[in-house]
Amino acid sequence: MLSPQSKIVSHINGIVVGPLDLLAANTLRVPCSTWNTFFVDTVEGLQSLLPEVRHQPLLVLGGGSNVILKPVFPGVALLMRIGGIDYLPIDDADVDSRQMLVKAGAGVVWDDLVSQTVKAGWSGLENLSLIPGTVGAAPIQNIGAYGVELDQVFHALEAVRISDGQVVRFSKEECGFGYRHSVFKEALKGQFIITSVTFRLTGAEFAQCNTRYAPLNQYLDDHSIHRVTPEQVRKAVCDIRSHKLPDPAKKPNVGSFFKNPVIDEACWQALHERFPSMVSYPQEAGQVKLAAGWLIDQAGWKGRVSGRVMVHDKQALVLVNHEAGSADDILSLAEEIKNDIRDKFGVTLEIEPQVYPQE
Ligand SMILES: Cc1cc2nc3c(=O)[nH]c(=O)nc-3n(C[C@H](O)[C@H](O)[C@H](O)COP(=O)(O)OP(=O)(O)OC[C@H]3O[C@@H](n4cnc5c(N)ncnc54)[C@H](O)[C@@H]3O)c2cc1C
Repeated sequence: MLSPQSKIVSHINGIVVGPLDLLAANTLRVPCSTWNTFFVDTVEGLQSLLPEVRHQPLLVLGGGSNVILKPVFPGVALLMRIGGIDYLPIDDADVDSRQMLVKAGAGVVWDDLVSQTVKAGWSGLENLSLIPGTVGAAPIQNIGAYGVELDQVFHALEAVRISDGQVVRFSKEECGFGYRHSVFKEALKGQFIITSVTFRLTGAEFAQCNTRYAPLNQYLDDHSIHRVTPEQVRKAVCDIRSHKLPDPAKKPNVGSFFKNPVIDEACWQALHERFPSMVSYPQEAGQVKLAAGWLIDQAGWKGRVSGRVMVHDKQALVLVNHEAGSADDILSLAEEIKNDIRDKFGVTLEIEPQVYPQE
């Protein structure tokens, strides 16, 4: 369904495809029609496109692996395809020859960047191997996996301000990173389009690989790998992930559907008395992080089918669109799970992916 204002805008840099169903542009494979859709492949193209589109609702998409799209988005979709990976010497006062900056375009496939930097002998991104999506989306929720979060290797990013088309540089502090969080999800939500991200990586020969995450440590032990290199960490993470997580191409999903809830220690004590085997991780400032997957599994949801959608039979945290369901099918199942977890454990789960259009 398209708006009466629907039109195809021709443009020099942004390749225009006109109204398009975004079914193939999101990993949950739900249908979503827009008024117009543009592929954005240069910063200049984006800047000259903005005056035409900035007064309509904008949906910025990378790989569509962390969004839930309702059947109609009444506005313009921008599919980020800005490419390029450049290695830059460190330009600050404490020049460190063991480190290097790598700057990647927002549209670069995240795992291509990880693979390329590891192969080139740089360490820092290997634990984040095989996370779907693009470089530009990675800071939005401060992606994390296997004991590492993006902010640990983040240097800076560039983003175009939607209101005036200016390129603005953000330092790490200015991004306000937290657990699955950044300033772009709240205070600056919908105001900037990220065009590139720069990371600070360490030469593999000087790197201290992070292998503290239990399943990674176990894998390395099982394979008798003791002097660990970034390439070995990458291989280990890829192997574990490929066995553990459903491939969205075969079982449409958005990865972890709920964030791990963080509760205060007093609540945790009370819960722990009732459920001594409950999985939890102590945090700073008297807080404790619970494993949302454990809660959902304990509540008996693993493998449960609800019409065209279901809870994955091996990963309770992953909801799968197994029979061409819609955003509403997925969101109703999520609501049922949330209510049940609140009743059983008194814990409120929060959805991780972003829903569009936003209510
Ligand atoms: C199988 C699977 C496993 C996953 N595993 C993990 C994991 O281990 N750790 C983890 O953290 N995440 C994980 N995810 C979630 C997802 O891959 C990440 O959040 C990823 O960074 C999303 O990238 P994307 O390009 O697909 O973003 P999209 O889904 O396209 O967009 C996500 C959000 O970012 C915004 N956005 C995208 N690009 C830009 C841009 N250039 N500028 C401004 N805003 C932008 C969008 O508007 C949207 O709000 C997983 C997903 C799947 C399907």
